[in-house]
Amino acid sequence: MELPKKTIKEFTGKVIKIIQETPSAKTLVFDTKDIDFDFYPGQYVMLNVPYEGELLKRAYSIASPPTQRETLELTIKRVPGGKASVFLTEKVKEGDEFLIKGPYGKFVWVPQMGTNLVLIGAGSGIVPLMCILRYIVSAKLEHIKATLIYSNTHYEEIIYYQELEKIQKGSNIKVVYTLTRSHPPHWEGYTGRINTSMLLKEIEDIPTNLYYLCGPPNFVDDIAQMLHELGVDKEQIKKEKYD
Ligand SMILES: Cc1cc2nc3c(=O)[nH]c(=O)nc-3n(C[C@H](O)[C@H](O)[C@H](O)COP(=O)(O)OP(=O)(O)OC[C@H]3O[C@@H](n4cnc5c(N)ncnc54)[C@H](O)[C@@H]3O)c2cc1C
Repeated sequence: MELPKKTIKEFTGKVIKIIQETPSAKTLVFDTKDIDFDFYPGQYVMLNVPYEGELLKRAYSIASPPTQRETLELTIKRVPGGKASVFLTEKVKEGDEFLIKGPYGKFVWVPQMGTNLVLIGAGSGIVPLMCILRYIVSAKLEHIKATLIYSNTHYEEIIYYQELEKIQKGSNIKVVYTLTRSHPPHWEGYTGRINTSMLLKEIEDIPTNLYYLCGPPNFVDDIAQMLHELGVDKEQIKKEKYD
């Protein structure tokens, strides 16, 4: 399905709030009150990050839904040894300004594309998936059925945990977690990497859904392969690789 392109804009965004999401991830909230910035759920922006005299350009998915017009949220997870992500999670203060350009990307969802969604993410790969979920909630799209399968290394690293718990209470959204490296004593979610038996157990009518996969390239490729083997058509799988 070809969607009309959103106009690409370049603007200076001021950080008006910083949210510590997990020990290694922060959300930067930018003021977009005076900017007519529109995008599809799932798209990303390019951020110019000053770093030791250089200007680094990095892609960050938009975390806030397009229904939220006054602010734009980006969630950045620190990559050990990384440049931009370390700067953005350790040095940025409220009031700082950044050049932002976008929106970009074909990893998008709008209701006309399908009503049964399965979102599968790892680590910071949750960000565009959260944008889609926030959009479903804020636009009150109660006819949409969504399942999120979210993999993290440790419990403390689950980004948006409280909000995800709230979203899935009595709604059309189901959230399934797995922790790959450690888990608290009374953990009731899965442990270990996402595998075929987990997918078979948690997803209804596997070949009929629309799939959105986001995270490190190997993760996305592995899950896509599992879905193919379970009979999902290539066209039903959208991928965003964070490399
Ligand atoms: C379309 C798109 C959307 C993205 N959205 C987000 C987002 O919403 N939130 C977010 O936190 N990141 C996101 N990323 C990743 C982001 O663009 C940067 O790559 C990331 O912040 C690391 O940049 P850096 O300058 O700190 O690392 P660099 O200094 O460029 O790299 C340092 C080292 O870390 C490795 N590395 C780079 N990225 C990763 C990674 N993601 N995981 C593991 N190792 C890595 C590199 O190979 C290198 O060895 C997105 C990437 C893409 C392509």
